Amino acid sequence: MSTISSMLKDHGTLIQIILYLIVIVSIWLAEFSVAVYSLKKKWQHTWVNLMFILTALPIQLALTLVVIFISGWVGIHHWGILYLLPNSQSIWVKYVIGFFLMDFFEYVYHVFMHKVAPLWRFHLVHHTDVEMDVSTTVREHPGETLVRVCFQMLFVFMAGASIGLLLIRQTVQTFANLIAHTHIRLPKKTDKVCGLLFITPNLHHVHHHFELPYTDCNYGDVFSIWDRLFGTYKEMEATDIKFGLDVYHGHSPSNFFQLIKFPFFKKNKPA
Ligand SMILES: [Zn+2]
Ligand SMILES: [Zn+2]
Repeated sequence: MSTISSMLKDHGTLIQIILYLIVIVSIWLAEFSVAVYSLKKKWQHTWVNLMFILTALPIQLALTLVVIFISGWVGIHHWGILYLLPNSQSIWVKYVIGFFLMDFFEYVYHVFMHKVAPLWRFHLVHHTDVEMDVSTTVREHPGETLVRVCFQMLFVFMAGASIGLLLIRQTVQTFANLIAHTHIRLPKKTDKVCGLLFITPNLHHVHHHFELPYTDCNYGDVFSIWDRLFGTYKEMEATDIKFGLDVYHGHSPSNFFQLIKFPFFKKNKPA
């Protein structure tokens, strides 16, 4: 056990990247096996989305150092909401409460990205994907990556999140996000039961439906409870879901460079 924890501590980021790649490739292949379209078409679509990793990675890696610094600072100064919990609480209880708290913050972040006009201009790039699959998870404009990590700094500071909590949170969140975007649907009943607590692929697909009010629902990251609590929870038949955005339906840019420029177009008019 101690060998595993020291390995995670020393090579945490590398292990996460490798696991991430294994999962994304496995899901991609599984999706292809049930897909109705050709390998060429799926690869062309995936390629555009994968390009976003190149723009996100430098920002993510550089700013993660600041997130780690803040996490260290709150640890030294016992600063943040989680430090208000009694000291007698076990570390695992603190991790669970911390996990829920950070998930709530992610919900708030996602609502902000939809409701604050300048932020929406960046976030809509994620929503312009009309052929959503697991690769859509990484379709994030670098402007949004910057905003997201800045919000994360604030959340770590407010919560008093430790490195351990961030590591657990990041791992679970990454897998949950990949699964949420996958084209593979759960059987109806399983989806319904899992959806009581978690954001299932179907629930996140509803969020990617091209028409309002569905685009502005199911903001949850790992848990669906925040949507249920704040009235933004919506269900829809999987067969009725059409991906994209109503304002750009049929003419969303599909080229990577157009997508990078997209938030800066006047009124987000397509190229
Ligand atoms: Zn969204
Ligand atoms: Zn999404």
